[in-house]
Amino acid sequence: MTNLRWGLVGASTIAAQHMIDAFRANDGEVVAVMSTNADRAAKFAHEHRIARATTSLDDLAQSNDVDAVYISTTNELHRDQVFAAAKAGKHVLCEKPLALTLGDARAMVAECHARGVILGTNHHLRNAATHRAMRDAIHAGRIGKPLFARVFHAVYLPTHLQSWRIEKPEAGGGVVMDITVHDADTLRFVLDDEPLAVSAMTSHGGMSREGLEDGVMGVLRFSNGLLAQFHDAFTTRYAATGFEVHGELGSLIGRDCMTQAPKGDVLLRSAAGEEGLKISHENLYARSVRLFGDAIAGRGAPSASGEDGVKSLSVAVATLEAARSGAETAIDLKV
Ligand code: NDP
Repeated sequence: MTNLRWGLVGASTIAAQHMIDAFRANDGEVVAVMSTNADRAAKFAHEHRIARATTSLDDLAQSNDVDAVYISTTNELHRDQVFAAAKAGKHVLCEKPLALTLGDARAMVAECHARGVILGTNHHLRNAATHRAMRDAIHAGRIGKPLFARVFHAVYLPTHLQSWRIEKPEAGGGVVMDITVHDADTLRFVLDDEPLAVSAMTSHGGMSREGLEDGVMGVLRFSNGLLAQFHDAFTTRYAATGFEVHGELGSLIGRDCMTQAPKGDVLLRSAAGEEGLKISHENLYARSVRLFGDAIAGRGAPSASGEDGVKSLSVAVATLEAARSGAETAIDLKV
């Protein structure tokens, strides 16, 4: 299906900065936005040339001129909003983390399945040309058996986003729910393997409050024996991002690639020397929306499905438990 008509749930930064453009880039139409605050809804609609603003989730979900709903509210709200959209027969693209608990996330997947609507999780990084090139290189055997991966995803949370992420545990704040979920999804995608267990430590670098972590380092053990190290933070102003996979025959070194922008490069190092992989950059969010539309039209699955969202959440939940207990913690991959 092309020309999807979208309803937005949440007058959010991610919708304003990336997703509205991504819907329009796919010839989609944004027909309505819902916010809990009438003034914010009206202002957002005006600024983004959206015809209708509402404060009623049911109005938006049940509108006849809405084909699909994009949910980008704070994380504790995703569950009920996905249920409302699915009940109204609307396809749903939901932001990560899908929910705060695995039980809720699994229920969301089951509900969408039962209602016959597509559920996608907006994990943008598996749409990056860099990560797709690394996955292809691994599949082609260019580094032999992958042994280790390293994810560098410590960033500085911009001032305008220093709100619920750093002070609201009940909204699913904290760097693990915000960033580690993305690492988990990208690792699963690039390595084409499942993580079985995690060890982790969290830190408090002075930005977050209410007991929320603003830094984490951890190690994931994958089913094929590979170990993956991850480092996520809200507090590092000058760190670079990266994603590396080291195999028996070569290493893939991705730089500047754990970002929202279509940029970065990947170096392959092996006995043959160094080679930059050919990267054809494409807007990550536009690709996510395109594949979501294809899935509705019966052509394949969303870039990241609801099931993928359950699995990335499961890594986050296990990471928080591992940090709390100090013990290597099993990851529950049941969907
Ligand atoms: P924002 O803080 O911008 O928006 C979240 C909610 O906060 C909105 O739904 C809105 O509620 C409320 N809000 C917005 N502005 C104000 C304001 N001025 N005063 C009071 N409340 C306000 O969140 P983000 O856009 O950063 O994140 C939203 C979701 O998207 C999260 O689930 C996050 O994890 C995810 N995300 C995903 C990314 C990705 O790359 N996949 C990147 C960034 C975020 P209301 O709707 O009622 O107006």
